[in-house]
Amino acid sequence: MTSAAPVQSEQAPAGLDAALEVLHRVFGYPTFRGNQADIIAEVVAGRDALVLMPTGGGKSLCYQVPALVRDGVGVVISPLIALMQDQVDALQALGVRAGFLNSTQDAAERQRVERAFLAGELDLLYLAPERLRVESTARLLDRGTIALFAIDEAHCVAQWGHDFRPDYLALSTLHERWPTVPRIALTATATAATRAEIATRLDLTRARHFVASFDRPNISYRIVGKDQPRQQLLSLIRAEHAGDAGIVYCLSRASVEATAEFLNANNIPALPYHAGLDSRVRAANQSRFLREDGLVMVATIAFGMGIDKPDVRFVAHLDLPKSVEGYYQETGRAGRDGLPSTAWLAYGLADVVQQRKMIETSDGDAAHRRRLGSQLNAMLALCETVECRRSQLLGYFGEAGGDCGNCDTCLVPAEAWDGTVPAQKVLSTVFRLDRERGQRFGTGQVVDILLGKQTAKVEQFGHSTLSVFGVGTELRDAEWRGVVRQLLAQGLLSVEGDHGTLGLTDASAEVLYRGRQVRLRREPERTRAPSRSSARRSSVVVDLPEQAVGLFERLRAWRAATAAEQGVPAYVVFHDATLRQIASLNPSDLEGLGQVSGVGENKLAKYGQQILDTLHSG
Ligand code: ADP
Repeated sequence: MTSAAPVQSEQAPAGLDAALEVLHRVFGYPTFRGNQADIIAEVVAGRDALVLMPTGGGKSLCYQVPALVRDGVGVVISPLIALMQDQVDALQALGVRAGFLNSTQDAAERQRVERAFLAGELDLLYLAPERLRVESTARLLDRGTIALFAIDEAHCVAQWGHDFRPDYLALSTLHERWPTVPRIALTATATAATRAEIATRLDLTRARHFVASFDRPNISYRIVGKDQPRQQLLSLIRAEHAGDAGIVYCLSRASVEATAEFLNANNIPALPYHAGLDSRVRAANQSRFLREDGLVMVATIAFGMGIDKPDVRFVAHLDLPKSVEGYYQETGRAGRDGLPSTAWLAYGLADVVQQRKMIETSDGDAAHRRRLGSQLNAMLALCETVECRRSQLLGYFGEAGGDCGNCDTCLVPAEAWDGTVPAQKVLSTVFRLDRERGQRFGTGQVVDILLGKQTAKVEQFGHSTLSVFGVGTELRDAEWRGVVRQLLAQGLLSVEGDHGTLGLTDASAEVLYRGRQVRLRREPERTRAPSRSSARRSSVVVDLPEQAVGLFERLRAWRAATAAEQGVPAYVVFHDATLRQIASLNPSDLEGLGQVSGVGENKLAKYGQQILDTLHSG
């Protein structure tokens, strides 16, 4: 991706000593990642920045470190009120003095935070955007010293996006009231149009723009043919993600409920989340998902924004997402900690039929429906590709890339085949039913006709006298359905009405009469776990030696107990990545433990001895 003012320095910029010291001491990390160092240098120097980085890229450090290096309090504006407590808990666990002001607090609590702010006893203050519009809050900020303004989830300023928050529009005036305070806006939203809109609306067009690659190399992308989706999901979890936290997305509330029940009945602890649930139940389920290890959240897309649980090991879709943007955003919630994770989607004919129908019956004008249609087409192209999924996904966001070696089509290449003749057979069956009989039928009947099956329905309608009856015995039932699905995906067939009846499109004639070739994808035999076949355990420990796996499990149990005692999410104590490294290094003393990435000064002092005891208790 290009950026308005590209920054590509590989070397650490000058004047980063203080920032590195904070990185080591507070966060316990050895080095900055990607372009964090450049971004931090920019903000530490008092200049504005616009940061576009994928989920898990490490955006938080980009404002947390400068807030600790610069004089005063870093003010973070975030719309995610429900998550502020966890963010503050995570910082406090690192020994950072953090607080928040939002509508969930009572007056006494608010006053306590305000006093701490004025007394210079805070490093970071989280604010909901609507707070800033209240004059008393602005006056409070006037009386303290502000190190920087961080505008998190900056895409909320984009008026045509899903997450638009009107209060974000007022943030463009921050620099009028506080002209010397640098502003850093951050988002994981990838499209160039949204980025331009953010820059304009927040008046950051002259600021440096830092645009990271949107690749998520640790996520393995897999799209499989849908057969018995819940059973397929269960196999995936049992084979590769036993005991892991994951998110399962379903289209409807009913299927959310049914899937959660199904998983629980099969000993996979799962919770439902959708807009139809009581808000307290929703909040409780979200909180349990964040706090406990190894829970599966089964949800509609209402779930997920800002969820910064780092150890979500898989995101599964049981229904087709409506757009590539949605798919990228939802799958992006896997593996924020950089450890191997899976994005898995089960997709079949019924998905295409259903989505096309939903568009056909959606509100809005023809232009709106066309937009929805082309978004769906891009998603279908991703599902039907025989090329690398990742390069196709990144290509959608304007990034070039070669084969990734970590998606299903790279690991088990799918074949492309010339499906022109089978396509012509399907299309001419649809044509004959329509022209000769004035009838419309769904996929089942069309396939039965091609296979020459004497079903009751075939007899009832006299379809065995059609010239196409029985001309398709070279393919099996499931293969014909695959052909129909791909013709729908390519816009060579259309689907209508409640019964999903098939019809021709303008492009159908090109195949029937003008020699247009049709390339189809042949499913590789049974898409099993391509890379980690033996597993039956969490993907986090798959490549650890046996002894380290035992230590990791002990550490995880210690962490669960510690987190529960403190009422914080497990990852606030330590991330999986840190426990993994501790387990494989098995340090004998505090000094050795302090070398592990993610073990900073505060956590070493607080938990160091307990960890050594846990390691050496066996
Ligand atoms: P984002 O907000 O961009 O989604 P986060 O700020 O939550 O990402 O960071 C993702 C994960 O990466 C977190 O677990 C964070 O602690 C870790 N991380 C960030 N920067 C570094 C770094 N320089 N070294 C090691 N881990 C890092």
